[in-house]
Amino acid sequence: MPRTPFLAGNWKMFKTGQQAVDFIREVVPLVAGRAGREVALAVPATALFQAAEAARGSGIAIGAQNLHWEREGAFTGEISAAMAAAAGASLAIVGHSERRQLFGDTDEWVSRKLAAALGADLLAVVCVGETLAQREAGRTLEVLSAQLRGSLAGLSATAAGKGLVMAYEPVWAIGTGKTATKEEAQETQAFIRRELSAMGLPAESIRILYGGSVKPDNAAALMAQPDIDGLLVGGASLKADSFAAIVNF
Ligand code: PEP
Repeated sequence: MPRTPFLAGNWKMFKTGQQAVDFIREVVPLVAGRAGREVALAVPATALFQAAEAARGSGIAIGAQNLHWEREGAFTGEISAAMAAAAGASLAIVGHSERRQLFGDTDEWVSRKLAAALGADLLAVVCVGETLAQREAGRTLEVLSAQLRGSLAGLSATAAGKGLVMAYEPVWAIGTGKTATKEEAQETQAFIRRELSAMGLPAESIRILYGGSVKPDNAAALMAQPDIDGLLVGGASLKADSFAAIVNF
């Protein structure tokens, strides 16, 4: 089954609502005419509404970078999937390594956030990845397998087929300028696909993105790998010209 290429930016804690609007106005003409690719931007929660309004009709989907799994409640500082959807989000990143490392997101929390995102009809981009120490200790596949089984616990094949996008983001490659080689990324992503299949999920139809220091000059080589179906881009998604160059790889 062909997997539509998925090119997503993750702005992290950058850009106000107005800066998001300015970016979208600049990028839309640069990526117009690229049929057959899905393009998305995960923006700060405070920019969701304005970004979604600015992107309306452009084909660029707007997403949240994190969610709480409850619909509402006494969770100071959090937003729910329903709130993100009401603000215009159609997707959410779940389990980004910065959430896991800096804010204590566990695999169990990720599985709850995933269920909440899918329950609100959001596409969920679930991130997994090993640290440098884990890679150097030869534990990459074991770590990824545990993250996959924990983060996707309880997920049905139907729900996965409808709304799951995976992202392989080696922690040592995020924001460091070090990219996994295309061979390393391919080999690891082929493993992730085999694991998804072993878990009874429709692995051949699930997009697996690569993330970690993606730039305009490495996007095409990464995208040429059979198990790399898209890119999750941090730093290089903050400037319209570099994000457009990646989308147009
Ligand atoms: C990310 O934030 O998901 C990411 C991959 O960041 P960068 O592209 O800056 O490494």
